[in-house]
Amino acid sequence: MKKPVCSRCGSDAVLLDAYAEWDMEKQDWVLQNVFQDAICEDCEGEASLDWVDVTSEASDSLACAGAV
Ligand SMILES: [Zn+2]
Repeated sequence: MKKPVCSRCGSDAVLLDAYAEWDMEKQDWVLQNVFQDAICEDCEGEASLDWVDVTSEASDSLACAGAV
């Protein structure tokens, strides 16, 4: 597995701009489009993303593949 992290601070608290539209059958919001403009919650601003590999066992830990 892999996950996106902020290229500036390495945080995985990153968000992408997206549109959601109402799905009548599911009665829920579904993603209609995802944009590439990333926001880092830790930097509180625009960010570019790096992708890091994550093992399933370590996905919830702080282990960060040797970065930083
Ligand atoms: Zn950041």
